[in-house]
Amino acid sequence: MDQNRRAFLKQSTRYVLLTGAATVAWEYIVAGAPEQAPNYRIADHWWGMTIDVDACIGSGNCVRACKEENNVPLEDGYFRTWVERYRVDPADPEHPLVDSPNGGYDGFPQIDNPGGRFKTFFVPKMCNHCADSPCTQVCPVGATFDSPDGVVLVDKERCVGCRYCVQACPYGCRFIDPRTHTADKCTLCYHRITQGLTTACAEVCPTGARKLVDFKDPKDPVHEFLRTHRIHVLKPELATGAKVYYNGLDGAVR
Ligand code: SF4
Ligand code: SF4
Repeated sequence: MDQNRRAFLKQSTRYVLLTGAATVAWEYIVAGAPEQAPNYRIADHWWGMTIDVDACIGSGNCVRACKEENNVPLEDGYFRTWVERYRVDPADPEHPLVDSPNGGYDGFPQIDNPGGRFKTFFVPKMCNHCADSPCTQVCPVGATFDSPDGVVLVDKERCVGCRYCVQACPYGCRFIDPRTHTADKCTLCYHRITQGLTTACAEVCPTGARKLVDFKDPKDPVHEFLRTHRIHVLKPELATGAKVYYNGLDGAVR
């Protein structure tokens, strides 16, 4: 590994403290030799997430935990995950009212729903870690890449801040970090999951609406979940290979 790459790895720990196996896994991945990473068998995993819309209560715990865990700028407009509230009028389902004050960071104020006329629900959103990710395809310098265990990551040393990926993501999941001028987004808490932990958002969810899943683990409850629920992904018509699977997703959600 060259000196620049080493310097990057040191610098990246200023923002997300990578320790133990995670440091090692990341180091080997960005060096282009993931199969050589000790303590973490990359080929054994294929990560994703399930979100149960029926279970989400809009607490905002996940948004706060994500910002703290990943040192995301606290200002409004910078989110690795956020929560949207939908209010659907059955007489006009094509035009739902959607709000997400400060990404749901502070929870949601009460809204009027006279006579229970509107269907209301919360939809947590995040990077879908697409298997055919549009963001990866447009990056001119290879800074955005797919890790072999199914996580889309950004090498901040390579990123030139051109914003192509921000524009290419059809889900609005990326932003340019104003401190580093490089692309940022959910890493599926890569520094945690490579150490056997779950993501920060899933850990604090009071209802278990969000769950980290490993599709390669035959014992992962995700397999039963997929069999027994009506599962959807966001914008399926785009065929991005999104790996965040939703239960209870209303047709009004875009
Ligand atoms: S959701 Fe957006 S940022 Fe995430 S992998 Fe897909 S295209 Fe890329
Ligand atoms: S902003 Fe960075 S990661 Fe995104 S396309 Fe440009 S160089 Fe690649």
